[in-house]
Amino acid sequence: MAPASHRDRGNAAAGAKATTGAYTPAAVSPNRRDQRRYTIRLWAVRHARLLETVYHRFARFFLLLHPLWKAIGYQRAEAPVTAVERRVKGVLFDCRMCGQCILSSTGMSCPMNCPKQLRNGPCGGVRANGNCEVEPDMPCVWVMAWEGSRQMAGGEAIMAVQKPVNQSLRETSSWLRVTASAAAERDAERAEEARR
Ligand code: SF4
Repeated sequence: MAPASHRDRGNAAAGAKATTGAYTPAAVSPNRRDQRRYTIRLWAVRHARLLETVYHRFARFFLLLHPLWKAIGYQRAEAPVTAVERRVKGVLFDCRMCGQCILSSTGMSCPMNCPKQLRNGPCGGVRANGNCEVEPDMPCVWVMAWEGSRQMAGGEAIMAVQKPVNQSLRETSSWLRVTASAAAERDAERAEEARR
Protein backbone atom coordinates (compact mmCIF):
# COMPACT_ATOMS: atom_id res chain seq x y z
CA MET A 1 0.00 0.00 0.00
CA ALA A 2 1.27 3.48 -0.84
CA PRO A 3 2.23 5.60 2.19
CA ALA A 4 -0.35 8.19 3.27
CA SER A 5 0.32 11.51 1.61
CA HIS A 6 0.59 14.71 3.62
CA ARG A 7 -2.96 15.59 2.59
CA ASP A 8 -4.27 12.31 3.98
CA ARG A 9 -2.86 12.73 7.48
CA GLY A 10 -5.32 13.41 10.24
CA ASN A 11 -8.34 12.16 8.27
CA ALA A 12 -9.78 8.75 7.71
CA ALA A 13 -9.72 7.64 4.10
CA ALA A 14 -12.90 8.57 2.31
CA GLY A 15 -13.32 5.00 1.07
CA ALA A 16 -13.09 3.59 4.59
CA LYS A 17 -15.67 6.09 5.77
CA ALA A 18 -18.02 5.27 2.92
CA THR A 19 -18.11 1.62 4.04
CA THR A 20 -19.36 2.71 7.47
CA GLY A 21 -22.32 4.45 5.90
CA ALA A 22 -21.22 7.68 7.56
CA TYR A 23 -21.95 10.99 5.92
CA THR A 24 -19.00 11.63 3.62
CA PRO A 25 -18.95 15.09 2.06
CA ALA A 26 -17.31 15.46 -1.35
CA ALA A 27 -13.53 15.60 -0.95
CA VAL A 28 -14.05 15.27 2.84
CA SER A 29 -13.00 18.53 4.50
CA PRO A 30 -10.87 21.27 3.00
CA ASN A 31 -9.44 21.74 6.50
CA ARG A 32 -6.84 18.99 6.39
CA ARG A 33 -5.17 18.73 9.74
CA ASP A 34 -1.50 18.78 10.43
CA GLN A 35 -1.12 15.85 12.83
CA ARG A 36 1.64 17.50 14.87
CA ARG A 37 -0.46 20.61 15.46
CA TYR A 38 -3.45 18.47 16.24
CA THR A 39 -1.52 16.70 19.00
CA ILE A 40 -0.54 20.04 20.53
CA ARG A 41 -4.17 21.20 20.35
CA LEU A 42 -5.21 18.22 22.45
CA TRP A 43 -2.44 18.99 24.91
CA ALA A 44 -3.67 22.60 25.20
CA VAL A 45 -7.18 21.42 26.10
CA ARG A 46 -5.82 18.96 28.66
CA HIS A 47 -3.87 21.84 30.24
CA ALA A 48 -6.62 24.46 29.93
CA ARG A 49 -6.28 25.54 33.57
CA LEU A 50 -2.55 26.16 33.25
CA LEU A 51 -3.02 28.06 29.99
CA GLU A 52 -5.81 30.13 31.54
CA THR A 53 -3.43 31.24 34.30
CA VAL A 54 -0.65 31.97 31.82
CA TYR A 55 -3.07 33.95 29.65
CA HIS A 56 -4.30 36.09 32.55
CA ARG A 57 -0.73 36.96 33.48
CA PHE A 58 0.15 37.66 29.88
CA ALA A 59 -2.92 39.90 29.46
CA ARG A 60 -1.94 41.88 32.56
CA PHE A 61 1.60 42.26 31.20
CA PHE A 62 0.27 43.41 27.82
CA LEU A 63 -1.94 45.95 29.57
CA LEU A 64 1.09 47.26 31.48
CA LEU A 65 2.63 47.89 28.06
CA HIS A 66 -0.33 50.04 27.02
CA PRO A 67 1.73 53.27 27.18
CA LEU A 68 4.23 51.66 24.82
CA TRP A 69 1.53 50.53 22.35
CA LYS A 70 0.07 54.01 22.54
CA ALA A 71 3.45 55.62 21.89
CA ILE A 72 4.12 53.32 18.94
CA GLY A 73 0.51 53.56 17.80
CA TYR A 74 -1.79 50.54 17.99
CA GLN A 75 -2.11 50.62 14.20
CA ARG A 76 1.63 50.45 13.68
CA ALA A 77 2.05 47.70 16.30
CA GLU A 78 -0.62 45.62 14.56
CA ALA A 79 1.55 43.90 11.94
CA PRO A 80 4.42 42.70 14.19
CA VAL A 81 2.13 41.70 17.07
CA THR A 82 -0.21 39.86 14.69
CA ALA A 83 2.78 37.95 13.28
CA VAL A 84 3.85 36.82 16.77
CA GLU A 85 0.26 36.01 17.79
CA ARG A 86 -0.27 33.95 14.64
CA ARG A 87 2.90 31.96 15.29
CA VAL A 88 2.33 31.33 19.01
CA LYS A 89 -1.38 30.53 18.82
CA GLY A 90 -0.91 28.65 15.57
CA VAL A 91 1.40 26.21 17.33
CA LEU A 92 -0.65 25.92 20.51
CA PHE A 93 -4.23 26.05 19.24
CA ASP A 94 -4.06 25.72 15.44
CA CYS A 95 -5.41 29.29 15.50
CA ARG A 96 -7.18 30.52 12.35
CA MET A 97 -6.70 34.20 13.26
CA CYS A 98 -10.35 35.13 13.43
CA GLY A 99 -9.32 38.24 15.36
CA GLN A 100 -11.99 37.71 18.05
CA CYS A 101 -10.43 35.15 20.32
CA ILE A 102 -12.80 33.26 22.61
CA LEU A 103 -10.41 30.56 23.83
CA SER A 104 -11.04 31.65 27.43
CA SER A 105 -14.70 30.71 26.92
CA THR A 106 -14.10 27.50 25.03
CA GLY A 107 -11.79 25.47 27.23
CA MET A 108 -8.78 26.44 25.05
CA SER A 109 -10.30 24.59 22.08
CA CYS A 110 -10.45 26.94 19.10
CA PRO A 111 -13.99 26.90 17.65
CA MET A 112 -12.66 27.98 14.26
CA ASN A 113 -11.25 24.46 13.92
CA CYS A 114 -14.80 23.15 13.72
CA PRO A 115 -15.28 22.42 9.99
CA LYS A 116 -18.55 24.37 10.26
CA GLN A 117 -16.86 27.07 12.37
CA LEU A 118 -19.67 27.02 14.92
CA ARG A 119 -19.05 29.37 17.85
CA ASN A 120 -21.99 28.47 20.07
CA GLY A 121 -21.74 24.77 20.66
CA PRO A 122 -21.76 21.67 18.52
CA CYS A 123 -24.02 20.90 15.60
CA GLY A 124 -26.36 17.94 15.70
CA GLY A 125 -23.87 15.69 13.96
CA VAL A 126 -21.54 14.77 16.80
CA ARG A 127 -20.93 11.04 16.59
CA ALA A 128 -21.64 8.65 19.45
CA ASN A 129 -17.91 8.52 20.19
CA GLY A 130 -17.73 12.33 20.45
CA ASN A 131 -16.06 12.79 17.08
CA CYS A 132 -16.92 15.22 14.28
CA GLU A 133 -19.35 14.16 11.53
CA VAL A 134 -17.25 15.89 8.86
CA GLU A 135 -13.88 14.62 10.09
CA PRO A 136 -14.67 11.28 11.73
CA ASP A 137 -11.22 10.80 13.26
CA MET A 138 -11.26 14.21 14.95
CA PRO A 139 -12.91 14.77 18.34
CA CYS A 140 -15.58 17.46 18.04
CA VAL A 141 -13.94 20.76 19.01
CA TRP A 142 -16.99 21.49 21.17
CA VAL A 143 -16.69 18.20 23.04
CA MET A 144 -13.08 19.19 23.69
CA ALA A 145 -14.19 22.72 24.62
CA TRP A 146 -16.55 21.35 27.26
CA GLU A 147 -13.84 19.10 28.71
CA GLY A 148 -11.32 21.96 28.79
CA SER A 149 -13.80 24.38 30.32
CA ARG A 150 -14.49 21.95 33.22
CA GLN A 151 -10.89 22.46 34.34
CA MET A 152 -10.87 26.25 34.11
CA ALA A 153 -11.63 28.70 36.93
CA GLY A 154 -13.71 30.73 34.48
CA GLY A 155 -15.17 27.64 32.83
CA GLU A 156 -18.77 28.88 33.10
CA ALA A 157 -17.97 31.40 30.37
CA ILE A 158 -18.68 28.58 27.92
CA MET A 159 -22.38 29.26 28.55
CA ALA A 160 -22.13 32.81 27.19
CA VAL A 161 -23.69 33.31 23.76
CA GLN A 162 -21.06 34.41 21.25
CA LYS A 163 -21.69 36.95 18.53
CA PRO A 164 -21.27 35.87 14.91
CA VAL A 165 -17.73 36.24 13.59
CA ASN A 166 -16.98 39.70 12.31
CA GLN A 167 -15.12 38.80 9.14
CA SER A 168 -13.58 42.27 8.90
CA LEU A 169 -11.46 41.44 11.97
CA ARG A 170 -9.83 38.38 10.43
CA GLU A 171 -6.02 38.40 10.44
CA THR A 172 -5.91 41.08 13.11
CA SER A 173 -4.53 40.82 16.64
CA SER A 174 -6.92 39.80 19.41
CA TRP A 175 -4.19 40.55 21.93
CA LEU A 176 -4.03 44.22 20.93
CA ARG A 177 -7.81 44.55 20.67
CA VAL A 178 -8.35 43.12 24.16
CA THR A 179 -5.57 45.33 25.56
CA ALA A 180 -6.91 48.51 23.97
CA SER A 181 -10.38 47.74 25.23
CA ALA A 182 -9.16 46.93 28.78
CA ALA A 183 -7.10 50.14 28.84
CA ALA A 184 -10.09 52.22 27.71
CA GLU A 185 -12.25 50.60 30.40
CA ARG A 186 -9.61 51.22 33.07
CA ASP A 187 -9.17 54.87 31.99
CA ALA A 188 -12.93 55.41 32.08
CA GLU A 189 -13.11 53.98 35.62
CA ARG A 190 -10.25 56.23 36.75
CA ALA A 191 -11.92 59.28 35.20
CA GLU A 192 -15.17 58.36 36.95
CA GLU A 193 -13.38 58.03 40.31
CA ALA A 194 -11.63 61.39 39.78
CA ARG A 195 -15.01 63.06 39.14
CA ARG A 196 -16.41 61.85 42.49
S1 SF4 B 1 -10.84 31.88 18.51
FE1 SF4 B 1 -9.97 33.04 16.77
S2 SF4 B 1 -8.14 34.12 17.56
FE2 SF4 B 1 -8.75 32.52 19.09
S3 SF4 B 1 -7.49 30.74 18.60
FE3 SF4 B 1 -9.43 30.51 17.44
S4 SF4 B 1 -9.11 31.49 15.41
FE4 SF4 B 1 -7.45 32.12 16.81
